[in-house]
Amino acid sequence: MINFEYARASDVADAVRQIAADPKAKFIAGGTNLIDLMKEDVERPTRLVDISRLPLRNVEETTEGGLRIGALVPNSDLAYHPLIEARYPLLSSAILAGASQQLRNMASTGGNLLQRTRCFYFYDTATPCNKREPGSGCSAIAGINRICGILGTSEACIATHPSDMCVALAALEAKVHVAGPAGERVIAFADFHRLPGNTPQLDTNLHPNEIVTAIELPAQGFARNYSYLKIRDRLSYAFALVSVAAAFELEGDTIRQARLALGGVAHKPWRDTAAEAALRGQAANHATFRHAADLLLRDDLARRAIMRTLAQAAQATPQSQSAKKIR
Ligand SMILES: Cc1cc2nc3c(=O)[nH]c(=O)nc-3n(C[C@H](O)[C@H](O)[C@H](O)COP(=O)(O)OP(=O)(O)OC[C@H]3O[C@@H](n4cnc5c(N)ncnc54)[C@H](O)[C@@H]3O)c2cc1C
Ligand code: SF4
Repeated sequence: MINFEYARASDVADAVRQIAADPKAKFIAGGTNLIDLMKEDVERPTRLVDISRLPLRNVEETTEGGLRIGALVPNSDLAYHPLIEARYPLLSSAILAGASQQLRNMASTGGNLLQRTRCFYFYDTATPCNKREPGSGCSAIAGINRICGILGTSEACIATHPSDMCVALAALEAKVHVAGPAGERVIAFADFHRLPGNTPQLDTNLHPNEIVTAIELPAQGFARNYSYLKIRDRLSYAFALVSVAAAFELEGDTIRQARLALGGVAHKPWRDTAAEAALRGQAANHATFRHAADLLLRDDLARRAIMRTLAQAAQATPQSQSAKKIR
């Protein structure tokens, strides 16, 4: 049983004040991730600051021709919002590929960004995990890591960011609006989530006492040519083993603009501008796509997959033999 205080924030400034006053406090929005983590004893906040009733539920047009999405817009409302469906269908598709209808009804836009990894060991407090307990080790590297990362990993952590929505937001070049004790700031989506390095306990570059207030989409929505593909163990209610958000602006069959982002393979939504550049000006055909895919997976995939397979093979050595070697 975890004892914690509960307080409702009256406005954004009050939410920031409350979170800044207690380093162990956490915001709660839809609660679909945080409550699970508390039940599993992974998160132990001393205080929950309930932000779910703050007036951050609007989707508004910006003067630049884009949209501003309040951090508390539920995932389902966002996916079915007429402006999103018409102008940013890639985002609708990605959201609807995630979780279940009930979860999407509860889950908030801001909470989706801040959801934590689904690495099995992160949830298992009986095992070492650098993300949960810095310095304790990484059980996944030589463990069950089928759902872990293959790009941008580190010796300390190979976890992935599990969101579908964020893969589309990365491809669309969204911006994240945040507020904190020092005022407001805007973070480019590519800079919001982090790679693990040697501090995997930090998922994002959001400061501990900041709140996400909105997501901003630029005018360009790639509404004509887009696709979100998610490979997973079941067709519903399962996280991505790998997902791909692709969007084009075409002139005839020539690619004028391209966006490509991967989910389920890295500590952050993985956008590769070199692979996008290789698509620009090319014919939209199999050979072009193949070249971009090869570029996207250069170096890391092969190297790390081989290393991981070798580590797993080593793990699979019968206990008696390894025990003998150790002795
Ligand atoms: C069974 C299951 C399956 C799922 N499948 C998928 C899936 O396939 N794809 C997918 O993308 N997601 C999936 N999800 C995850 C789900 O999308 C997230 O749990 C949800 O988006 C989190 O939003 P929330 O509002 O409930 O966050 P909460 O649980 O309330 O909060 C999550 C974290 O975000 C912080 N936070 C929340 N709002 C803010 C804010 N505005 N500013 C700063 N910090 C904030 C909280 O402090 C907390 O640390 C699944 C979840 C479950 C339980
Ligand atoms: S991959 Fe990261 S989250 Fe998973 S056990 Fe290793 S340190 Fe923990």
